[in-house]
Amino acid sequence: MRIYIGLDIGGTKFMVGAGDENGNLLHSIIYETPRNLEQGIELLKKMTREVAGNDKIVGMGAAVGGPLDWKKGIVSPLHQPEWKNVPLKEIMEKEFDCPFFVDVDTNVAAWAEYKLAQPRPEKLLYMTISTGIGGGFIADGKIYRGKNGAHPEIGHQSIPFRCSHPERVQCECGVSDCLEALVSGNGIRRIYGKSPENLTDNEWEEVAYNLGQGLRNLAAIYLPDVIVLGGGIATGAQEKYFHQAKKVMAEHLKMTPAPDVRISKLGYDTALMGAIYIAQDGLK
Ligand SMILES: [Zn+2]
Repeated sequence: MRIYIGLDIGGTKFMVGAGDENGNLLHSIIYETPRNLEQGIELLKKMTREVAGNDKIVGMGAAVGGPLDWKKGIVSPLHQPEWKNVPLKEIMEKEFDCPFFVDVDTNVAAWAEYKLAQPRPEKLLYMTISTGIGGGFIADGKIYRGKNGAHPEIGHQSIPFRCSHPERVQCECGVSDCLEALVSGNGIRRIYGKSPENLTDNEWEEVAYNLGQGLRNLAAIYLPDVIVLGGGIATGAQEKYFHQAKKVMAEHLKMTPAPDVRISKLGYDTALMGAIYIAQDGLK
């Protein structure tokens, strides 16, 4: 049978999965990320052979942390310090003799949400909220790319925020008023001194207000049909947090329509599924 391989290459774990021609995930495996570059490449090859078995690989896709050159398939993920200018596309195409595509994990995740959205939206914005914040934007069937192919950094936008400890708001990028500093897992821990699941209702209300303001900026500028929220904080938070964030977004949008805001149903498989779809669809 003809199969597509997806790779989710993360700083703590590698996931590799096989999909059929309809994009259904057949099976997937997870291994811890080796520190060493050579071991990492060898492990990805081994995992690919393991999920492929005797099936014929007709395309491969991969999601990895930035920065990278998606056209040449050269990657330098920040969270894998030994990986510098790795010609991943060339390595994998030589090994498996099929087309290989690689893009930033948030773009790949956005592609997965776009492919699975019913009805298919014209414009979809994906936002992941976990330790940090990332995003990807799909417009008219293509991944949106900025100057020199850069992807949007939607967590590093300024918002009017509410915070009971404003002196503790400090983004890891060096700026003091980023959305990421207020609503990401690391931001929440820095401000409130505890993990997100232990926040009080009043503290959640601040986080929801701040997320709502961030969504409002994104909605006013990108005009998406749909915003999908993924990542551990988004999928783990309570319903009332989203209700509140959506309300703040809608109340502050006067000139543009409010998008539909949804929680991802893919959970930890978002980037892996996107990688399989990219193996099928290629990159534009
Ligand atoms: Zn920032």
